[in-house]
Amino acid sequence: MSNLIAPAHPDRCASESGGHAAFEPFPARKATVGPLEIRRALPARGRRMVGPWCFLDRYGPLTFGDDKPMDVAPHPHIGLQTVSWLLDGEVLHRDSLGSEAMIRPGELNLMTAGRGIAHSEETPRPSSGRLSGVQLWVALPDASRNGDPAFAHHADLPRHELPGGTATVILGESGGLRSPAAVHSGIVGVDLDVRGTMTLPLDRSYEHALFVMDGRVTAEGQPLDPDVLYFLGTHRDELQLSAGAPARVLLIGGTPFPEPILMWWNFVARTHEEIAAAREEWMTHERFGEVARYAGPRLSAPPLIGKASPNPAS
Ligand code: MN
Repeated sequence: MSNLIAPAHPDRCASESGGHAAFEPFPARKATVGPLEIRRALPARGRRMVGPWCFLDRYGPLTFGDDKPMDVAPHPHIGLQTVSWLLDGEVLHRDSLGSEAMIRPGELNLMTAGRGIAHSEETPRPSSGRLSGVQLWVALPDASRNGDPAFAHHADLPRHELPGGTATVILGESGGLRSPAAVHSGIVGVDLDVRGTMTLPLDRSYEHALFVMDGRVTAEGQPLDPDVLYFLGTHRDELQLSAGAPARVLLIGGTPFPEPILMWWNFVARTHEEIAAAREEWMTHERFGEVARYAGPRLSAPPLIGKASPNPAS
């Protein structure tokens, strides 16, 4: 997915974790990515990151005929991993490494941008005519953000059958099960299929957040609304979720990210100069490579105006 509503000014993001448990709602805002309507839950005003997670878009559920609801032309990324996760339908990924991978529900597409990669994401033809999913970004720490780009498709992720539901470990570790996907920070991402009352162990050093993708569910007795990110803070050993009918909840978390980051368009960096250089090199066809076989032109970077510092004097 591409961030098409990039402001002209880079967005300064840093962990605001206060070192305690919390229960703070952050409603997602509506936006569009090409023809696709999305709800953007991260970054939110007052909550830019949850552990290393720095971006969360929810799209669908929707049904369609001949149209192509997802059609994100080739665009670049630096300094992050993209996490593509579906509840319904399918998405075709292509990138500048030559990767081509279809994902379906329960499968993970994980793209590690490192110093630079380009990709496209689109509804394939033919398709099921349905689409529902989330797209997230994970900020890479300084030690790995300039590393080699990579892409991995994981069709078989560890699943916990728990009393009250199923937990699928997308990234990191939960309940003794570890996702095979490559990670670079303390991180967890779990898809919860809640069908009763389920108790999930948490790492108390991590900050966590919940996002309801489908159905009605309560967390610690509190009803959760769909399309709202609930920040849970740190210092929790477990989490109890209840649903009277099947519900799907995304749990994200990780070590509070220690490095202030700059986000602009599809880039996660540290300095304005890094962002300006990545933008320039995308526009001049350097660094990122080309996405073969995508039928159409690539995206142009929006204008970059102004300057932001990750460490303001104030
Ligand atoms: Mn993208």
